Amino acid sequence: MSKIIEPTFYESVQLNFDRAAQFTNIPAGLLKQIKVCNSVYYMQFPVKIGKDYQVIEAFRVQHSHHRLPTKGGIRFSQKVNQEEVMALASLMTYKCALVDVPFGGAKGGVKISPREYTVEQLQKITRRYTTELVRKNFIGPGIDVPAPDYGTGSREMAWILDTYQTFKGGEIDAAGCVTGKPVAQNGIRGRDEATGRGVFYGIRELLNDKAVLKKYNLKPGTEGKTMAIQGLGNVGYHTGKISQTEGGFKIISVAEYEGAIYSDKGIDIEELVRHRKKTGSILNFPGAENMDQRKKTLEVACDVLVPAALENQIRLDNAKKVKAKIVAEAANGPVTAAASDVLLKKGIVIIPDMYLNAGGVTVSYFEWLKNLSHMRFGRMEKRFDQNTYLNLVNLIERQSGRSINDKEKAIIARGADEIDLVRSGLEETMVTAYQQIREVMMRKPKVNDLRTAAFINALGKVASDYMNMGIFP
Ligand code: NAD
Repeated sequence: MSKIIEPTFYESVQLNFDRAAQFTNIPAGLLKQIKVCNSVYYMQFPVKIGKDYQVIEAFRVQHSHHRLPTKGGIRFSQKVNQEEVMALASLMTYKCALVDVPFGGAKGGVKISPREYTVEQLQKITRRYTTELVRKNFIGPGIDVPAPDYGTGSREMAWILDTYQTFKGGEIDAAGCVTGKPVAQNGIRGRDEATGRGVFYGIRELLNDKAVLKKYNLKPGTEGKTMAIQGLGNVGYHTGKISQTEGGFKIISVAEYEGAIYSDKGIDIEELVRHRKKTGSILNFPGAENMDQRKKTLEVACDVLVPAALENQIRLDNAKKVKAKIVAEAANGPVTAAASDVLLKKGIVIIPDMYLNAGGVTVSYFEWLKNLSHMRFGRMEKRFDQNTYLNLVNLIERQSGRSINDKEKAIIARGADEIDLVRSGLEETMVTAYQQIREVMMRKPKVNDLRTAAFINALGKVASDYMNMGIFP
């Protein structure tokens, strides 16, 4: 019997691609073109750290130019390598297609451990990396637009914009060269929480889908369901907080870099973050017990397991120990292609990364549109809507002879702010994409997992873009 070999992250993406491709009518040559990475830029640059110079390795991969600009985050991690960035860039293409965001996929990686540098040093590295991108024409609002990923956030995005503007003074749309910026520096309200909020909407959609749940013997609804989270960074924190406050989930285990905790009574995520800020660790959180190893969170019996840290966390060596009913891939590639098979055989539902964490790029798209339009969402219509609703409420009051108090009036007669519109657009996107994935599953009886269905949907859209361009008539 041949031994099953654990695929790398990039191989997993390719395997998942091939699995879905066989269910499509896309010509082989076109599939080949869609699969490859169009441009890979590997750079090494010197940065003075303390008294010495360090040579930093970094990458920017543009997976597909079928739509421009290309789009994808920048990762700061010691584990960054070319294959990892290629895998992440490929996923971005399929993700954007799935949620109808008109970008090609890209990703960047800087091989550093941010913990080992001061803020000043990180700023130097980020600015130098941006300079390299500008030099090679690998950044720009119509070329390639980075965003935050593992190890980076709005602070780094502000440095990127500032560096870009230094080179491109007077470029009117310069602010659209990067997304995930602070709100005061051309960012958009709701981008910080976007990926986690999207993860929550995606889980909620599955838990509202009675037909699919029946197949897996799962009960509908989010209220009271248990959740375990690996990684309490941007994605893990917002997923946990929103799932707890808006979905009524009970978070029973959390893992971070320093260890893991468990409590069957539930862990308040806000309190836990405060505790970590104060003590420097999630461990010894009042009311919870420390677990002996951080990876034990992945093995907790729960309704929903949310890996929100890095790829290849659920592998052949631990897949059999996963006791969750649903694995919600908030991170990119947390389950290897080989481990996916093990989970599916155990009857575990996997909500795939390509769909589930697409909230980040969706709101990045809104931010980019805001930058190109040079105006905040809601500015034109908010007061108009408010006055129209107020007139309507007053008319109903007069006609019915019944009055409502000012507080109720204010709730009804309200125009949408930027944050309302961003959340509404994000929810609409996640709901629509879920419906599209499930429609593929229902239409193709041989497709019985959400990842393959999501891939089929995305590949169809990318292929038709190529066809429409006349490249593959
Ligand atoms: P982040 O750096 O904000 O947080 C990640 C957290 O995971 C860190 O706090 C880190 O200490 C922790 N961690 C690392 N290894 C761990 C382990 N073995 N066990 C427990 N915790 C561990 O990064 P993020 O932006 O939240 O990204 C997390 C994942 O989500 C990545 O795969 C990223 O590609 C994906 N993602 C992020 C976004 C975004 O908008 N930030 C969008 C889509 C996908």
